[in-house]
Amino acid sequence: MNNLVVGAGLTGAVIAERIASKLRENVTVIDRASHVGGMHYDYLDKDSGILVQPKHLNFLHTNSKFIWDYLSNFANLTPVTFRPLVQIQGFSATMPLCLLTLHEIFPEDFAKMLENKLIAKFGYNKKITLAEMHRNFDDDLKFLSEYFYENVFKPYTIKQWGLSEESLPDCADTYYPFFISLDDRYFKEKYQAVPVCGWTNMIENILKHKNIKLKLNTDFSEINVAKYDRIFFTGSIDEYFDYKHGELPYRSVRVELNENLTDFGKIATYNYPYDYDFIRANVYKNVMPNNIYSNNKDIVGFEYIEDFELGKNERFYPVNNELSQSIYRQYLEESENLHNIFFAGRLGEFKYYESDELITRAFETVARLMINNDNIEEKNDEIEDGALEEINNDNNE
Ligand SMILES: Cc1cc2nc3c(=O)[nH]c(=O)nc-3n(C[C@H](O)[C@H](O)[C@H](O)COP(=O)(O)OP(=O)(O)OC[C@H]3O[C@@H](n4cnc5c(N)ncnc54)[C@H](O)[C@@H]3O)c2cc1C
Repeated sequence: MNNLVVGAGLTGAVIAERIASKLRENVTVIDRASHVGGMHYDYLDKDSGILVQPKHLNFLHTNSKFIWDYLSNFANLTPVTFRPLVQIQGFSATMPLCLLTLHEIFPEDFAKMLENKLIAKFGYNKKITLAEMHRNFDDDLKFLSEYFYENVFKPYTIKQWGLSEESLPDCADTYYPFFISLDDRYFKEKYQAVPVCGWTNMIENILKHKNIKLKLNTDFSEINVAKYDRIFFTGSIDEYFDYKHGELPYRSVRVELNENLTDFGKIATYNYPYDYDFIRANVYKNVMPNNIYSNNKDIVGFEYIEDFELGKNERFYPVNNELSQSIYRQYLEESENLHNIFFAGRLGEFKYYESDELITRAFETVARLMINNDNIEEKNDEIEDGALEEINNDNNE
């Protein structure tokens, strides 16, 4: 069988590797970009030794040891912890919102009083929502929930999704989380890491297999599809169908790199819900804080969020609303009538997936082919090993 994988992002790379090594079939991987990696693309700044992630910061966070072990075959993973900050009324405060945040933005006595009330009402080490905090007869907790609603949730959501104020839920219906704990890690999963030499390097290694042929700078529209028995499409599903049911909406991110700053700060990401036009500033050297650099140069990426427009910018976040879901469903239905074309990944399935979820789904896609393929001697390696079961168990922990 000849396989074509469209897109050399993480989804395409894992699907190609599974087909090459488990089905032992040939795979051609194409990407319209001049590099592999898709959204995970990064590069080393030669001058400073800083690994720059010019699209967005990507941290692996998973409960799956299986995924950790799988990726460790292709990269040296270094444990890191993502501890972003958020600017609230001039203070740099801990995000995720937690007990530490209270002490950073309020006078000590007031913060202590709120902390005591939260613990007495909900218990320690609990995750609650602003809605739960608000649905309370206690005026202080109601105040707190409204404070975070007005100063974090509302401006951040408006900037991130381009929504109007009127379209937002009321504070009493807002599921934004607050952690009654001192745990300031943004991600809570058991395994958290980045590949030491970068995501692009890791994805290049995943694609290094004798059965895989990689063609960069190649768009799907240039391909003679008749040459392939199966196609795995990780581009946007509306583009595949030439937008016949309408365009799927995405939010895009424009990153402005500033390489002329020094000692910008010690944190990887600063969030700006209302100050400035950018929403986040990423300080790339702080992603791996134990690295030693030859100079004190910082490279900072300022993220501006805007609507995706064809031909102008890139697709980042799928916009999930009634209209977009109804458009997507029409493409999905049409795709189900096609044979041997599989849509996968963030763009192929029009869904935001974390990296570990993408890997699980890529494994599932190829495992399903193995079940249907009677000619493969070792077709059930994966399934006998219990690999998928293991991933799912880990993820449900
Ligand atoms: C802002 C943001 C932050 C994130 N942060 C994290 C994080 O911290 N941790 C985490 O686990 N996950 C994170 N994610 C999720 C994760 O990074 C993405 O979901 C993931 O990169 C998607 O991988 P993919 O291979 O499906 O798509 P992509 O990475 O987009 O790859 C698709 C590839 O297909 C190519 N392509 C598209 N159409 C065509 C065509 N017609 N012809 C040829 N090539 C084509 C593109 O050039 C691209 O290289 C984040 C996502 C975003 C958007």
